[in-house]
This record gives sequence, C-alpha cells and structure tokens, in this order.
Amino acid sequence: MSFPTNFPVRRFDAVIVGGGGAGLRAALELSKAGLNTVVLSKVFPTRSHTVAAQGGISASLGNVQEDRWDWHMYDTVKGSDWLGDQDAIEFMTRRAPDAVIELEHMGMPFDRVESGKIYQRPFGGHTAEHGKRAVERACAVADRTGHAMLHTLYQQNVRANTQFFVEWMALDLIRDENGDVIGVTAMEMETGDVYILHAKAVLFATGGAGRIYASSTNAFMNTGDGLGMAARAGIPLEDMEFWQFHPTGVAGAGVLITEGVRGEGGILLNSEGERFMERYAPTVKDLASRDVVSRAMAMEIHEGRGVGKNKDYVLLKLDHLGAEKIMEKLPGIREIAIQFAGVDPIKDPIPVVPTCHYMMGGIPTNYHGEVVAPQGSNPEAVVKGFYAAGECACASVHGANRLGTNSLLDLVVFGKAAGDSMIEFIKNYGELKPLPEDASAKTLARLNRLENQTNGEKVDDVRTELQRCVQSHAGVFRTDKVLQDGVERIREIAERVAKTEITDKSKVWNTARLEALELDNLIEVAQATLVSAEARKESRGAHASDDHPNRDDENWMKHTLYFAEGQRLTYKPVHTKPLSVEYIEPAKRVY
Ligand SMILES: Cc1cc2nc3c(=O)[nH]c(=O)nc-3n(C[C@H](O)[C@H](O)[C@H](O)COP(=O)(O)OP(=O)(O)OC[C@H]3O[C@@H](n4cnc5c(N)ncnc54)[C@H](O)[C@@H]3O)c2cc1C
Repeated sequence: MSFPTNFPVRRFDAVIVGGGGAGLRAALELSKAGLNTVVLSKVFPTRSHTVAAQGGISASLGNVQEDRWDWHMYDTVKGSDWLGDQDAIEFMTRRAPDAVIELEHMGMPFDRVESGKIYQRPFGGHTAEHGKRAVERACAVADRTGHAMLHTLYQQNVRANTQFFVEWMALDLIRDENGDVIGVTAMEMETGDVYILHAKAVLFATGGAGRIYASSTNAFMNTGDGLGMAARAGIPLEDMEFWQFHPTGVAGAGVLITEGVRGEGGILLNSEGERFMERYAPTVKDLASRDVVSRAMAMEIHEGRGVGKNKDYVLLKLDHLGAEKIMEKLPGIREIAIQFAGVDPIKDPIPVVPTCHYMMGGIPTNYHGEVVAPQGSNPEAVVKGFYAAGECACASVHGANRLGTNSLLDLVVFGKAAGDSMIEFIKNYGELKPLPEDASAKTLARLNRLENQTNGEKVDDVRTELQRCVQSHAGVFRTDKVLQDGVERIREIAERVAKTEITDKSKVWNTARLEALELDNLIEVAQATLVSAEARKESRGAHASDDHPNRDDENWMKHTLYFAEGQRLTYKPVHTKPLSVEYIEPAKRVY
C-alpha cells in the first residue's frame, strides 16, 4: 500500500494534541473564546492517564489547618531539590486555591469536611511554616481524584462545543521556514488515513513517557509522542535525567502495590531468600523512604540477586501475615496480585520491582505555557505558535523531584495559562501562514520506511530491548559506568529501531503500524534520558549517582537541554527569581 505524497489538509485556529487533564483544561478556554479548536487523542479522552490519579490535588485552602500559598511554594522548591524555576512555582502555588475552587464550581464532586468545605488530607512533603509540621493540603475525591477531575473537564468541554478527534494519532510537528509551528500531521487510526492539521497555534498535552521503562505505573499509551515529535523538529528536551520511581510495582505489569502492604508487615526478599533491607536500613528496614527502598532493590538486582529467568525483580512476601489479615486489610492488593502477577499472596510472594512513575523533564516552557528554545544569544526564545502543558511539558515546577499531588495542579494551572496565551496569540494572527512544500515529508519518510523495510526485526522485540536497557541503565541505581554503558547500548538499539519491520501492512486499524510509529518516539525519549543522565555528575532529587553522592550547586544548579540532532547537550540557568517574593535559598533537603 502507498500513502499519497501530499496529505489532505484540514484547517483550525488551534490544535490540541492530548485529551488528558492539561489538554482539556486548555481546550475549554479556547472553545469558550469561540475559537475553532480540535482536541486529538489516541484514546477516548476520559481514558487518558489522568483518570488513574488517586491521591489528590494540592492547594493551600487551609480548610483543616491554617495554610498559606508561600508555604506551598517553599515545599515545592525544596521538593524540587532547588532545580525548579521559582517564578513558575510562585505562579502555580499562588493560583492553586482559585484553580481548585474553579473545579468545584464546574461540578467536581470533592469530598467535604464537616463545615461543608473541600476535604483535605496530609501528604508527603506538605508542611506548614517551612517544614515545622505536616499540613492537610491535598484536596481529594476519595481515591479517585483524577477520575473525577477528568470527567468534570470533559463534560465542560462538551458544553463548550469543543471538537474531538478521538483515536487520532499526531505523527509530526510542522514548522515553517522561520521555525514557527503551524500544524501537525496526524493519522485517523480507524481508517489509516493521514492528514495535515493546519493551525495558527498547536498545544502538546501528550502526558508522560513512562513506557520507556520495563516497569511503569503509566498507561500503555504513555509513549512520549509529544517529546518525540518535538525532538525530531529540532526542539530541545529539558531535564530528562529526572524520573520519579515507586518501589513496589508488580514486575512486568507495573501496577502499584501500596506502601500499606509493608506497613502491615510485608517484607522484601532477594533470590537467596534474604531480607535484604536489614542491610540497607537496619532500623526501619522495609519501611524506609521510597527512594531508599527503590535504590536497595535496584542494587540487589544489579548485583545478580534478582529473582526470575532474567533475575530482574525481587519478592514481596506477605503469606506470613495469614489469610485472615490479608483478606481483611489488603483485599484490593490480593486482587491486583492475582490479576496482574498471577499469584495469590496468601500462598506466594508477589514479584515487585522499582517502577517508573513520573517524568519531571519535558518540552521546555515558560509559565505562560509557551515553548522556549535557545535562539542566537537568547537561551529562552519563544517558539511562535507552539505551546505545551501537563506532564509532557517542563515549566519547570517539579525540578529534580515532584511533590505528590502537584501534578494534577500543574495540569489545570498551566493548561489554563497555555489556553490564555494561545487566545492572545491567535487574536493578532491574521490568515493562516502558508504550508511549506515539505509539510508531509518527515511523516511520509517514516511511513514509507515501514512499508518498504524487509528482513527487519519485530517492533515488539526491539521495544522490549529498549525498555530493559532503560530500566537497568537509567533506573534508580546509577554510576558513571552504568550510565556510559547505557548510552552505548541505547545507540545500538536506536539503529535497530530504524530497521524494524511490520509484516501486516493493511490500512484499517493497523495497530502494528501505530506501535512502530510510537517506537520512534520512545527511542527519542530513551536517548535523551540516558545522554542527559550520563552527563550530570551529582546527586539531586531523583537523579542519584553512587559516584557523585552529593548535590553540587556550584556546578550543577542548571537545567539540561538535550538536542536530538547530534545528541548535543546545553544547559540553562535555573530561574532563581520568583515573581514577587524573596528567593528561597538552597538548603539541604532533609525531612
Ligand atoms: C497511577 C498514577 C497515579 C497518579 N496519581 C497522582 C495523584 O494522585 N496526584 C497527582 O497530582 N498526580 C498523580 N499522578 C500523575 C498525574 O496523574 C499525571 O502526571 C497527569 O495526569 C498527566 O496528565 P496529562 O494531561 O499531562 O496527560 P495524560 O492524562 O496522560 O493524557 C495524555 C493525552 O495525550 C494523548 N496523546 C498522547 N500521544 C498522542 C498522539 N501522538 N496523538 C494524539 N493524542 C496523543 C492521549 O490520548 C491522552 O489523551 C499519577 C500518575 C499515575 C500514572
């Protein structure tokens, strides 16, 4: 089968790629302003990963105890290990209370405290008066906060007449000769037809890229498409060495097993049946903090004491708790273990592995949601017509480590900010800019390669290799050698990605082709991660290197920028100046 050399064109004011929390919040603003807006999504919008968020959304409402936005700001700066941009953090934490109340007014069914106000629960790292005591700051809808938020935003968009292209996959970014962004190419998954979506402004809200790891809590669709498209179009990716891990995901499946299991007395074992946490954290053992447990597990696996055919996981044993206690206290976990690991924890241990949870880096933006990239002497020139928000963007409010519940907040605050910026930009735009002659070229080349490749490897095999490589070389356990080897291995895998073959070449609903196209994005994100991590010779937040155990503010308090072409790195300074308050000076991050 062959694709037409010039794809048919459809025209819009704004194209939004992604129907998760960030995309829907931005779309609402644009549709309400009467602009011709389309939201593209690989899955039905309310199936986006935002739906899986449980814990809550942070805002200093002070409904339970006194709280203040500047305390929230302090916690976020400290959580980021001083890599977050303080202007963006001030912007987000100041707006948090309004953003949450706005969601409430849209109909989001928050839990309530006695007085009728929004219920708030305590969360790791949320404190009053700069670490003096814990404070209830996470606003929640039971353990389904993301679900409630996403459905609320979707309903508001239906009311505002937003157009949805559901099960459409954006493939490449289109820039004109000035570098301005003027659209995307995209495939209607059902028919296999490819179009040019020509627009005045494009927003990427494509979510995380956790699928570069073998074990991830992220949905299967989180393949970093936005990052891949940006990287191929010459846009740098920021701070890609920083990924947050959770210690106990089900090996192979990645589904989260809550800390509560170890709280009830569950223990971790290596292949020798040893309770290894006694060596790493003699006092608290299996209940040490998330990063400590994750690193210990990775160490055991790295030193050959992992379990299973590939020695790539450890065991979480809880049968000694007895059937009664498991049925009473951990029924949900038992169900997850049976469904996703095929073991009944009443009899057998659960295979678990440190699991990738959240990407702190992404497409560089300022706090208006505008994408920025170095141009001439300006390290942060705005890329005209291009916006990003949500997990795919790096504003950067999370710096080297994200504080729990700050991501849902990021979606609504920067989703709205990006929407507002786009409205302003489109108002003064005039007619659509002409499409360059080669608007279809990049996508066509990728599609034709897949059509013509013979004797290539299977996409699935190469993707599995990629995920194993990233898991073992850019996981929680990092040394210079581990990272250097990883850079080499991922380069070899990249060469294999360029030669994969799909045997089924039919046009209609061809998931094999879609997965091959996703692999092009995964490899960009994987390379950015390894190259950026290999270069950073310090430990900060989620990036912890055994060879460089300390934070080095003198040399490394700066953001990494990775360029796909030539795998080049440059750096830019952290924004230390907040908008209106005093700079929060670096200090040691202890809790
Ligand atoms: C299990 C889990 C629990 C979490 N719990 C919390 C929590 O309690 N609190 C918190 O603050 N954060 C939490 N997080 C993090 C938070 O949920 C995510 O960071 C956030 O929801 C991401 O939202 P998003 O809008 O950026 O992207 P997503 O919700 O992931 O949506 C991405 C969208 O982009 C679309 N898309 C992607 N690629 C393409 C393409 N090529 N073409 C067309 N469409 C495309 C997808 O179809 C989808 O609609 C959790 C994350 C996970 C995985």
